[in-house]
Amino acid sequence: MAEKKRDYYEILGVPRTASAEEMKKAYRKLAIKYHPDKNPGDKAAEEKFKELGEAYEALNDPQKRAAYDQHGHAAFDPRMRAGGGAGGRGGGFHDPSDIFREVFGGGGGGGSIFETFFGGGGGDEGGPSRGEDLRYDLEITLEEAFTGIEKELRFTKPAKCEPCNGSGAEKGSKTITCPTCGGRGQVTRNAGIIMMRQTCPRCEGAGQTIEKPCRTCQGEGRVSQQTSVRIRIPAGVDTGVRLRSVGNGAAGTRGGPNGDLHVVISVDDHEIFGRKGSDLTCEVPVSFVQAALGGEIDVPTMTGKARIAIPTGTQSGSTFRIKSRGLKELQGAGVGDLLVTIKVEIPQKLNTAQRTKLEEFARLCDETVNPESKSFFERARNFFR
Ligand SMILES: [Zn+2]
Ligand SMILES: [Zn+2]
Repeated sequence: MAEKKRDYYEILGVPRTASAEEMKKAYRKLAIKYHPDKNPGDKAAEEKFKELGEAYEALNDPQKRAAYDQHGHAAFDPRMRAGGGAGGRGGGFHDPSDIFREVFGGGGGGGSIFETFFGGGGGDEGGPSRGEDLRYDLEITLEEAFTGIEKELRFTKPAKCEPCNGSGAEKGSKTITCPTCGGRGQVTRNAGIIMMRQTCPRCEGAGQTIEKPCRTCQGEGRVSQQTSVRIRIPAGVDTGVRLRSVGNGAAGTRGGPNGDLHVVISVDDHEIFGRKGSDLTCEVPVSFVQAALGGEIDVPTMTGKARIAIPTGTQSGSTFRIKSRGLKELQGAGVGDLLVTIKVEIPQKLNTAQRTKLEEFARLCDETVNPESKSFFERARNFFR
């Protein structure tokens, strides 16, 4: 404490009248020059870097600057603080690397000097990072899509390592600031006039490293683990619908939040019913006699049989709508319909008696029985004429 502190303006190399912008510029230039990344193991440079941070922090704050202008270093002397000279919030100075990051906009933990210069962000270096989103492809039956259902999904995912509580550190071992990069997550190399930055090989960019890695997860903080998630599948889902189960994806690292689980639905084909949006479709075979005579027929629905009336002379391909027997709308309160399409079945085998009756029937038919055939052949005759 014997040595005399240098003047803050002198440290920054700016006049006492310097503007905030001028000081920032001066600080930037010198901070890069003396940054520990550029001067590994150089104690003098480290001291200069600290000194710079302190000077800049003091002069960049208008209140502190005014106090400094008036009282000099005494403004920040802890013994003087009781007198309220410095107007100090909390007194002492921060870590010089923090100031550095503030000025260079490096963001959260472990930002790099060169982010600003090389157009920003390595992304997740340093601090906590969110776990990955996971996708689970789930096949369900049409019945399940109709009623909605709760499913238990079992799968393997990166989960938080319990023995180390996700820290990656063996019990009793601490997380320490990475000694190789000083917590910045990056190391720099001087390659001619260009500065190269590299992810720190020791901490892989985290800025933190572990004294002794956890034996269960080898320091990852996560382990691959069988897990089960219950998920409610709403009635009306269709193939391609994506349900999100928040927080059930991969565990975050270094205390970051979990990712989400995306469940992608695929509805199996059904042997009786098809589907058009929230409408169900069904093709019902009807004998040609029944179609000709009309009457009531039984049709299947998702919830049992229903009876519908078909008119005399129902043609193959005619569709009848049974209200509200489809699926619930996934968005909205409505319910789809069941569309019954008639498929007239022509007899495929006739015994003698049946054949005789049909031939007898044919002799009784005139052209009014089959008006479509009549009109078609009239048009065809006209065409060939
Ligand atoms: Zn490191
Ligand atoms: Zn562990």
